[in-house]
Amino acid sequence: MTKNDSIANGKGQGASTRSVHGGAERDKGFHSMTTPIVQTATYTFDNTAKVIEFLDKKVYGGELDREEYARYGNPSVWSLERRIADLEGADDAVVYPSGMSAVTSLFLTVLGPGTHIVMTDDCYRRTRQFCETTLKKFGIDTSIVPMGDCEALEAAIVPRKTRFIFTETPTNPYLRVADLSRLAELGKRHRALTLLDTTFATPVNLRPLEFGIDFVLHSATKYFGGHNDVLAGVIAGGAGRIKALKDARGILGNVIDPHQAFLVERGLKTLAVRVRHQNESALRVARFLENHAKIERVYYPGLESHPDHDIASAQMSGFGGVVSFEVAGDIKSTSDFIDRLRIPYIAPSLGGTESLIEQPAYFSYYDLSSEERLAIGIKDNLVRFALGIEDADDIIADLDESLSQVPANGGARQV
Ligand SMILES: *Cc1c(COP(=O)(O)O)cnc(C)c1O
Repeated sequence: MTKNDSIANGKGQGASTRSVHGGAERDKGFHSMTTPIVQTATYTFDNTAKVIEFLDKKVYGGELDREEYARYGNPSVWSLERRIADLEGADDAVVYPSGMSAVTSLFLTVLGPGTHIVMTDDCYRRTRQFCETTLKKFGIDTSIVPMGDCEALEAAIVPRKTRFIFTETPTNPYLRVADLSRLAELGKRHRALTLLDTTFATPVNLRPLEFGIDFVLHSATKYFGGHNDVLAGVIAGGAGRIKALKDARGILGNVIDPHQAFLVERGLKTLAVRVRHQNESALRVARFLENHAKIERVYYPGLESHPDHDIASAQMSGFGGVVSFEVAGDIKSTSDFIDRLRIPYIAPSLGGTESLIEQPAYFSYYDLSSEERLAIGIKDNLVRFALGIEDADDIIADLDESLSQVPANGGARQV
């Protein structure tokens, strides 16, 4: 199915209608409302003539409507891929067992020795690590430029070597937002592919392909799955490029289990409802925090004070469910503030039904010293709050209660 024959299967264009119906194909065998979990490792043929019919299409080209072996594909996975493609307005999508699997597969498939990637400095830390270690071993170089500095980004492009320009929007933890039209134009002018990780935005808030971006990537573990119970990843884009990735997946072997795919598809149906609720709550929480005496700074693209507020407002229909902020205190009074909260669980990740909170100084950057963290802009008093779908009034009351107990002098300040 391509974007042309599915605007939520003719039922409407709204994000929630798309979330429920987009790309869905009713099961013709069992008349099941939901997509069956096709739990199989291989597929049978009625006779040799059917084998030959299949192979003719596979080898000489033709519309394949079945599979031969589960590493090459699975109907439960196809269904999820069609639905995500529809939400992103993409020709097609390819699903992986995790977000990292999506990133690593894309780079391993498209890049060769002597090629080069330009990425922004607040990209997901494991992605950056993969580029700087594994890809480096294969003779693939990475340049890292400050997020939001388009001139630095363009200057880092190496003619005929740079294959990818990679960034995220909004980024973690400062929720920076890239200017997508400008990025797409840069990519086209320098013949580099543009790749955008919009895990934090979801297609409910931002559809990068409409701006001319080549590939959109998600950790489906976050908002797509939406319930903190499954890992998955996806890349959406043009038909030919996605087909190449699907072929490579059949060789690399990083296939998603059909039960995992089912859980993500189930999560997708409530994507728009959840994300819109989270957008609203996050904006309220951000405004509340910004006006609180015990908070030093709030980072949320929906606030006028955010450096990317204008571009975010122009491009996005919502600002997402993650709010970062600095408590007026040191590392200890910040962790005490977190420990007193009753609603959010202390955990990495985001995008699920439960609110999650973390102090980046401990979670992603524990191996660095306070000074090393500061050098890359991670303050000890920084908190990342990933809103779930609890009521904003309750979340705000919880934050207020805990903030009221942060010592007025903020402890021994390091920031
Ligand atoms: C979580 C995350 C990833 C990695 O995805 P996994 O599903 O955990 O492998 C990549 N990018 C962003 C922005 C993420 O938040």
